[in-house]
Amino acid sequence: MRLRIGIAGVAGRMGRMLVEETRAAGAILAGGIDRPGADVPEGVTLFADIAALAAASDVVIDFTHASTARPHAAALAAKQAAWVIGTTGLSAEDEQAVAATAKSIPVMYAPNYSPGVNLVMALAERMAAALPADAYDAEIVEMHHRQKVDAPSGTALGMGRAVAAGRGVKLDDVMQSGRDGHTGARAAGAIGFAALRGGQVVGDHTLLFAGATEHISISHQAFDRRVFATGAVRAGLWVRQRGPGLYSMMDVLGLTGG
Ligand code: NAD
Repeated sequence: MRLRIGIAGVAGRMGRMLVEETRAAGAILAGGIDRPGADVPEGVTLFADIAALAAASDVVIDFTHASTARPHAAALAAKQAAWVIGTTGLSAEDEQAVAATAKSIPVMYAPNYSPGVNLVMALAERMAAALPADAYDAEIVEMHHRQKVDAPSGTALGMGRAVAAGRGVKLDDVMQSGRDGHTGARAAGAIGFAALRGGQVVGDHTLLFAGATEHISISHQAFDRRVFATGAVRAGLWVRQRGPGLYSMMDVLGLTGG
């Protein structure tokens, strides 16, 4: 039986691409929800609320706003649809609600659905574990479009967390974001961040390990936001086959043995 995918935030930038990618994947587009008065893509069935969408879907792919996390968690658990969460900016309480919901339905939660970024994170952790922190300085450089309001990017922070995990430390304890003026010498074991802003760059990230006698770097460039939509639909097809639990894009890519 073909999978029925519902899309929360169907009129949004990601929602529109998810409509196209759901169709391209050969799944049934059950329909979507959005805010009242939103400009919903042509031919998409609009449901009154998340409960109605969940009842008509096997999987709901959700790229909306963090404020929806808790009401959506309750509705999806009640209707027993799987949930792919793309929305970012969830609070600790929201994340607790997501984790609680994952006890009764399959939940996929990833801050970035690009396969390449997830591979970079997995490699970053392994590289950091192999390269001594006092001999290889870790620096993360990212560039994004001029409209971006936060820095460093969530993906850069994720890369930093992966390096910290490989070194067995907490990112908050070693993070150094931005340098200006008389900063003093670099602290051993610091994880540095630099952010560039300009043009319409979708997302460039480079992780550099700088040793005295060699440099090792790994870079990722996203050219089109579609990479997130393709990844999220792939995650939706994958998660529907699973039982209740909290999964990540790393699981989809076989990077966690899950
Ligand atoms: P957007 O503003 O273009 O789209 C969001 C849509 O959700 C809008 O159409 C809005 O009307 C709708 N919406 C908001 N609240 C709603 C509610 N209560 N009920 C129903 N619909 C609601 O934003 P976007 O660029 O599509 O991004 C959406 C989210 O996805 C953001 O949190 C963004 O950071 C995140 N995102 C995640 C990834 C990833 O790979 N995980 C990639 C890109 C974007």
